[in-house]
Amino acid sequence: MDLKQFEIWFVTGSQHLYGPETLKQVSEHAQTIATSLNAATQIPVTVLFKPIVTTPEEIYQVCQQANTQKNCIGLITWMHTFSPAKMWINGLKILQKPLLHLHTQFNRDIPWKDIDMDFMNLNQSAHGDREAGFIMSRMRLNRKVVAGHWQDPEVLQQAGDWSRAAAGWHDWKGAKFVRFGDNMRYVAVTEGDKVEAELKFGYSVNYHGIGDLVKVVNETADSDIDTLIKEYEDSYTLADGLKKGGAQYQSLREAAKIEIGLRRFLEAGNFKGFTDTFEDLHGLVQLPGIATQRLMNDGYGFGAEGDWKTAALVRAMKVMGNGLPGGNSFMEDYTYHFDPENAMVLGSHMLEICPSIANGKPSCQVHPLGIGGKADPVRLVFNSAAGPAINASVIDMGNRFRLLVNEVEAVAPEQDLPNLPVARVLWKPYPDMKSGCAAWILAGGAHHTCYSQNLTAAHMEDFAAMAGIEYVKIGRGSELHQLKNELRWNDLYYQINK
Ligand code: MN
Repeated sequence: MDLKQFEIWFVTGSQHLYGPETLKQVSEHAQTIATSLNAATQIPVTVLFKPIVTTPEEIYQVCQQANTQKNCIGLITWMHTFSPAKMWINGLKILQKPLLHLHTQFNRDIPWKDIDMDFMNLNQSAHGDREAGFIMSRMRLNRKVVAGHWQDPEVLQQAGDWSRAAAGWHDWKGAKFVRFGDNMRYVAVTEGDKVEAELKFGYSVNYHGIGDLVKVVNETADSDIDTLIKEYEDSYTLADGLKKGGAQYQSLREAAKIEIGLRRFLEAGNFKGFTDTFEDLHGLVQLPGIATQRLMNDGYGFGAEGDWKTAALVRAMKVMGNGLPGGNSFMEDYTYHFDPENAMVLGSHMLEICPSIANGKPSCQVHPLGIGGKADPVRLVFNSAAGPAINASVIDMGNRFRLLVNEVEAVAPEQDLPNLPVARVLWKPYPDMKSGCAAWILAGGAHHTCYSQNLTAAHMEDFAAMAGIEYVKIGRGSELHQLKNELRWNDLYYQINK
């Protein structure tokens, strides 16, 4: 996916009070800024200059066009001069795309010696943008506000982060995620209101019986399996038993067959991700392991045990992180290391961790699974690199969705784990192990997450704002007493703000 296909429209507000000469200058300056934003390496999408707007009709029209333009994923607005904000009411009322209010000024510095009233009247976003800010606040608009000079790297980074969130949000509109089978029996957190999710997020999560997939898998030609096995051989270190002539070679062929069928099913249905469950595999020889890992690596969302909320989140985060170094994967907080000197979490899953977070070449292995009662599944085994990362989780609180984010620090494994044949990550949660874990439990975060090496809490905060859902961050400086209050106050807010 090339994020440059997505457009952010740069819309500058003004009015006719100042005469045509000033408006011409406003327009030129706005073009300069839009061109510069478009060229900024921090902003991965196209920033498109739009003719300046000076009347309620023009404002309404540009908002209407933004709504219907397929590739437009958001608007950046700026008031170089003063644009009386009642002119914006009807346009903003119908705007359905994310909005970033860039509170900037064309001139970085005040020209102390030359400054006169003409200069002041042109460069007056310091108060023009306040008028715009008021109406957006009065309308309770969810928008991003970025303040600072338009060439400031921090400003560009914030705009870039927001544009990535907008790309992920755009990708959810009309997206289809397929559930093979239903939710794992009795599990609560992976459940949720699928109708509400479609209303709120724009994606659907309809199910197919596993038999529909098995039928496609069973239509796979032997020659296609041969080709994919060759790709496995080229990409991974194959365990001896999986090599041609090895005792478990047939397991590898079964795994390849499942991958080919699954991929065909997803492509034919135009699905952006899927869920499965080890409780419902009738007709599939193995639980999909390497298939799921490789499909995730190609950008599909995935959630195990029927976890469709996480599948959709993994997909959105893959779109948001597109082109950045590092990866995004389905993840589960699996087991703890409570050594007081070196406390950390071991994150993993039975099989399905995305190789986009692999540190080095994965090895391809087959081992028994212990649950599900199926044949031994083939999987990719690897470690993950050290560095800053986040875990993100969407849960259904009954009257709202909550996006929960924990900032963590991944650490390089100091020990080999010769008897643990799964991909894994070690991390230390912020603010510290005990507070981070307690905070996550208090906030009701799932055991499933999307683990990201290349997104930050800032991306996720913007994303939650676009979706209009609750956002809770656990990170540096988080404090349990404050967090409990935040959760209580949020509960009240969502009771009142229906
Ligand atoms: Mn799980």
